[in-house]
Amino acid sequence: MYIVMIASECAPVAKVGGLADVVFGLSRELESRGHAVEIVLPRYDCMRDDHVWGLHVAYEDLWVPWDGGAIRCTVWFGFVHGRKCFFVEPHSQQAYFARGTYYGFWDDPQRFAFFSKAALEFLLKSNKRPEVIHTHDWQTALVPVLLYEIYARAGLAEQRVCHTIHNFAHQGVTGAHILAATGLHRPEYYGHPDRMGDGVDHHAINLTKGGIVYANFVTTVSPHHAWEVRHTNLGCGLGHTLHRFRDKFGGILNGLDYEMWNPHIDPHIPFHYDIEGIDHKAANTRVLRQRLRLREGRRPLVAYVGRLDTQKGLHLIRHALFHALAHDAQFVLLGSGSQHGINEDFWQLKQMLHDNRDCHLEIGYNDDLAHLIYAGAELLVMPSLFEPCGLTQMIAMRYGTVPVVRSVGGLRDTVFDWDYSELPLSRRNGFVFEHPDHAGVDSALSRALGLWRNEPGLFRRLAEQGMAYDYSWNHPGQHYLNVYEFIRHK
Ligand code: ADP
Repeated sequence: MYIVMIASECAPVAKVGGLADVVFGLSRELESRGHAVEIVLPRYDCMRDDHVWGLHVAYEDLWVPWDGGAIRCTVWFGFVHGRKCFFVEPHSQQAYFARGTYYGFWDDPQRFAFFSKAALEFLLKSNKRPEVIHTHDWQTALVPVLLYEIYARAGLAEQRVCHTIHNFAHQGVTGAHILAATGLHRPEYYGHPDRMGDGVDHHAINLTKGGIVYANFVTTVSPHHAWEVRHTNLGCGLGHTLHRFRDKFGGILNGLDYEMWNPHIDPHIPFHYDIEGIDHKAANTRVLRQRLRLREGRRPLVAYVGRLDTQKGLHLIRHALFHALAHDAQFVLLGSGSQHGINEDFWQLKQMLHDNRDCHLEIGYNDDLAHLIYAGAELLVMPSLFEPCGLTQMIAMRYGTVPVVRSVGGLRDTVFDWDYSELPLSRRNGFVFEHPDHAGVDSALSRALGLWRNEPGLFRRLAEQGMAYDYSWNHPGQHYLNVYEFIRHK
């Protein structure tokens, strides 16, 4: 099959979060199964060109119709760790992708509406005719709309779209004027609640809603989250629309890139290990302690790695930190936030704990340190308020680090409680709590610390059971192929 991914991120060239890992990892899995995959991305000025091999111009003068005129684009091609990637660079005063960072601008909806249009224009003009186009999140949700309403008549009539929603909290709610710029001229028609009219702000359009209505199949990133977004407020206003289109909606768990995340060969960690030699993990713990100036000693190391975002249960992360310190454990946090004030709060906390040699807060993005933490920590906390899939808990398990998570979204699909799961003992792999409150964190974390302290043999077995799970792209890759097969014959 010939598949084109259109996305705003792809690891590691342009990565903000899990979306980037999915685009790269799924593409690699599909290629390893013999399918042809190409990825279309914006050419950000801040993207990591050092991860692109053989970058060259692939299409010189791509004129993309826009707002009554047209914007000239250059399309670049390069290999990103083997993946075939095209990068669209618009030449206009707005400098859509030359702003030093990926997101966070008042005209983000315009920027990505333009990118969606440009990507389709590129497929059309360069005679690319994939069987399936796979789009991701609100940034590219306009692709199926434009494909059906405009490009089908121009020569892209056979293409089918699978749209994946990674995060319902960001839907691309914006003014209808954006549609006119893309060539969708009937505001009453497109702005109708049955199409793209936002359910909350009746004057706005909702790009994600457009993706749901127009795509041939819609997925989100875990089966439990697919249930949550239809039946609870986690659908952020889209529950009704998802219910309407339930026959073409489902959840597929994200996979983990098992080459990038592999303690046996990971170049970021000093001591390699696998499930048979999990004891070697301890050598990484020592290095981690030295690097972060934590004191040595027989006490468990609890970690948090991830964005510092309200979604992640910030007050509960903080609570887990104090719980760990109060129970003779150590705590390491690596994260950074983009919401106002959050980094500052964690800087204050860092200063407050400055002299404490049992904890370290690293506020920023640091891939290298992240690998070392996964390898060196014994426990990883994830008290998320919502978590569509979550990769962090799967990475932790891959590195023999036991996850302590809230039972929500993809965490519920991947972590099975040591004491209470209905799975056989041999399939359990972590600790889970229900309610996003202090009592929840306390109960799960104290059970985890208790097992580490009182039953080291059983704790080790739990860690090994986590390592034994296959959370690679193997299964999800097959699920996506099933979806592609299903829609290409529709
Ligand atoms: P989300 O997509 O909500 O950010 P995921 O758990 O799906 O959360 O993916 C997070 C990914 O980003 C993981 O690969 C994690 O290691 C990485 N990550 C997040 N924050 C940081 C950070 N501050 N430094 C290094 N890696 C990070």
